[in-house]
Parts: sequence; C-alpha cells; structure tokens
Amino acid sequence: MTKITVAKGDGIGPEIMDATLDIILAAGAQIEIEEIEVGEKVYLAGNTAGIAKESWDIIRRNKVFLKAPITTPQGGGYKSLNVTTRKFLGLYSNVRPCMSLHPFVKTKHPQMDVVIIRENEEDLYAGIEHQQTDEVVQCLKLISRPGCEKIVRYAFEYARQYGRKKVTCFTKDNIMKQTDGLFHQVFEEIAREYPDIENEHWIIDIGAAKMADTPEAFDVIVMPNLYGDVLSDVAAQIAGSVGLAGSANIGESCAMFEAIHGSAPRRAGQNLANPSGLLQGAIMMLNHIGQTEVAEKVQNAWLKTIEDGIHTYDIYKEGVSKQKVGTREFAAAVIANLGQQPQQLSAVSYAAGKPIQLPRYQRKKPAKKELMGIDLFVHWSGTNPDELANRMKELEVEEVKLSMITNRGIKVWPEGFEETFCTDHWRCRYQGQQGKFIKHDTITLLINALKHEIDVVKTENLYAFDGKPAFSMGQGQ
Ligand code: NAD
Repeated sequence: MTKITVAKGDGIGPEIMDATLDIILAAGAQIEIEEIEVGEKVYLAGNTAGIAKESWDIIRRNKVFLKAPITTPQGGGYKSLNVTTRKFLGLYSNVRPCMSLHPFVKTKHPQMDVVIIRENEEDLYAGIEHQQTDEVVQCLKLISRPGCEKIVRYAFEYARQYGRKKVTCFTKDNIMKQTDGLFHQVFEEIAREYPDIENEHWIIDIGAAKMADTPEAFDVIVMPNLYGDVLSDVAAQIAGSVGLAGSANIGESCAMFEAIHGSAPRRAGQNLANPSGLLQGAIMMLNHIGQTEVAEKVQNAWLKTIEDGIHTYDIYKEGVSKQKVGTREFAAAVIANLGQQPQQLSAVSYAAGKPIQLPRYQRKKPAKKELMGIDLFVHWSGTNPDELANRMKELEVEEVKLSMITNRGIKVWPEGFEETFCTDHWRCRYQGQQGKFIKHDTITLLINALKHEIDVVKTENLYAFDGKPAFSMGQGQ
C-alpha cells in the first residue's frame, strides 16, 4: 500500500479526479489517499502560492502527489503552483509521452509515439533577470553539470525501463557553446554507459522541424528546460492528444503527476470533461511506485475504450466514434474493459520494473581554474565605438589591455562595421598579456572606471579551466 497525496483542483478537476481514482482503484491499485486543497480557493483566501503550509508537509511526507488542474486567479501577485511545486520539491524531470491514437483520434501523424523528457529546474527558468541600461535587459541562462547529468541519465534509464530504443538530445550548442555545449557533452558521456540504447543529437531548430514533420523518427527526446517547454506542447498537439496527455514531474525524493490541460472552467460540473489526461498521469504514477501490473491493466483498458469508440465530447467524431459519453460513463466503460486488450492500437506491456532510482551525483575533481581577464559591461549612450575604446583604454593597468568591445555580442572594436546597430550596453574585454591577469587587476580596473566616471553595470570574469578558455569569443572576433 502506498500513501499518495491527492488534490482535486478546480473547474473540471474534481470530476476527472473522481473518475481517475475510480478506475485505478477498480484495477487494484494499492494506494491510500490523503487529500489536500490547492488552487483557487486557497489563492483567494490570501495565500499567493495557492497552497497552505500544512499541505506542503503532507506532500513531502507522502512523496507522491496526484494533482488535478487548478485555476490561477486573474490579476497580479499569484504565483504559479506548478512552478513553485517543481522548484521547492526539486522535480528536475518532466516526462510527457505523446502518442497518437490513429484512427480513433484525429492526427496527421498516425505512427507517432514520442516521449519528451524536459529538464525542469535550470536554463532561463532560474528567473534571474535584470535591467542593466535604458535599452537592455538580461536573463541568465544557467546550466549545471549535476542538472545535465540527472536529466540525461533519467532519459536513458526511462528508455531502458520502458523498452525504448533510442534517446535523442536537442540543443543549440552551435551557438551556445558553453551552456548547451555542456548539456550536449554530458549527453555524449552518459550515452556511452548505455550501449544497448541508440543515441543521437540534433540541433534544436532542424530537430524541432523534423519532429513536427516526421515524429515517427523519434523515440525519447531529452532537452533543456525552455526547448522542452515549447516542444512538449508541440508534440502533444500534433499527436492530437492535448486533452489526452499526462505528465510526470520527478525529483530525487518526490514526484507529481497530472494532466497537461487546465481546469476548463466552462466545462465544470456538467459531467462533460475527458478524464484521460489525468488518467495518463495516474498510470505514470502507478509505474513510478512500482505497481506496473495495475498500470498496464488500466492503460490497455483505456486504449480498448478509445478503440471501442466510446468518446467524450472533445474527441467525439461522427463516423469514427460510436457513443458520446460523459465523464462518469467514460470511466465506467474503462472499468468494464479492465483485463482486456486493444485490438488495433498496440497493447502496452510494462516490464515489472522497480521505480527509476538514479545514483547520487558524484562531484568531479575540481579543474585548475585560472583567471585570464574580465569583461566590464558598460552603460554608455554614445554611438561611436572608437570613442568608447579611447575612454576605456584609460583604465588599462600595465600589462592588462583592452582587447575587444562588443555590443549585443557582436564585435564593434577593433575593426567593427559601421552598419552594426549598437545599443547603450557595451562589453569591454580586458585581458593580460601572455595570460597574465591577477585578481588585483579586476579591482584596479573597477577603481579606474570609477575615477573616469565609467558606468560599469556588471562584470564577468574570464576563466580557463584546465588550460582551456571557458568563455565565448565576440561574434566576428
Ligand atoms: P484548458 O486546458 O483548461 O482549456 C483549453 C480548452 O480545452 C477548453 O476549450 C477546454 O474546454 C478544453 N479542455 C481542457 N481539458 C479538457 C478535458 N479534460 N476534457 C474536455 N475538454 C477539455 O486551458 P485554459 O482555458 O487556457 O485555462 C483554464 C484555467 O486552467 C486557467 O486558470 C489556467 O491558469 C489553468 N491551467 C492550469 C493548469 C494546471 O493546473 N496544470 C494547466 C494549464 C492551465
């Protein structure tokens, strides 16, 4: 018996949760339910996170959380409960299977069966943003080695557990050589530990185009947070299954399972909603807690029900569907099909597996880290880079020289192009001659900047790790 936390949410949430729980309990799920309240009422009671402190305690104690969609009230100040939950509980992995159910649910891609595994905690979603000048704001893209190792390993372990043949990695490391470069590099390293699973890497732009056009070319796809956010929705949409897809958010100790759709308030309380998305989340939950036989039984009964043409309004189609049913009747049909297999759609078989357990991250031996220079980012409203270079040269310290100025990453000095558009945000790079640069130079440069009334809005140190420069060059340098 596994104790789980359940939140029935808002809008259609309570109906689809009741249907889901009825189905999995009828299939023999060994679960004990502890219910909490999250969402609209909690928000409106003045809790900006949509969840009470006692509820966190319950979620953390039970570790497994099945959540119906909630309504986030309109207006500012309310924080997304999903984002908060992911971050607080360290749910680093978002898993979203996107499978077409051709010919029973309309799709242009009858063969599609893709699982998107999205990194959930890092990347541009760290939420570190600053305005630096009148014209320029920035958002920090943070990618960590532990973050990459966890998500990539999870993708391979997932593939192994579910008998998937291939893991594909999407990044843009031709442009972001440090951040996406690390993700890709870790992918290559970890792939070597799984010789039984095929692996490949695609640049995200052409990879995304290929996925939207020929999704059957992919199996499991792993990617950083932002790309995963966008492409998991694309994948669900083209599978024809936005209303039918579930997702899992997995962390080292806790996990949350849900439907990908929202609370559909206009459909609430009318016994209309399709419980399939939440049911798919619940099936992932059963697999996660090791109740794979029950998960398999529910999934096959659900596939059979879809195949029987017993459809809720959202997927009902004249000529394909046989019977238009409500939430409760759909659940009853799935329960009646428990123990049966679909005939046309492929029946699933989940090997009786243990929950995926990743080894703890092992910190690597630190590299030799050497300071090679500094970038001073300057707010300057002039237009001629040569003029700025002359001013910035006055800051030079003995062997530390101004080597480059860029504007939005593009080199504008020395030998810039007149045509390059410039904002008021300039990066001025100082490097020591023959690699000689010491911490003290940084401070001297900043003191000199102050003396010369240069508005430095931020600094970045330029390091080499084990002798390899670990910072980007200017475009055109
Ligand atoms: P939605 O997913 O609730 O609805 C989009 C459309 O799909 C609507 O036409 C709706 O009727 C239909 N639909 C959705 N789920 C359905 C189901 N199970 N059966 C039948 N039809 C279904 O998206 P929305 O309208 O943009 O958002 C409504 C509310 O949900 C908002 O408050 C939003 O913040 C919230 N939301 C919550 C979550 C979550 O809790 N995970 C996710 C997305 C949106």
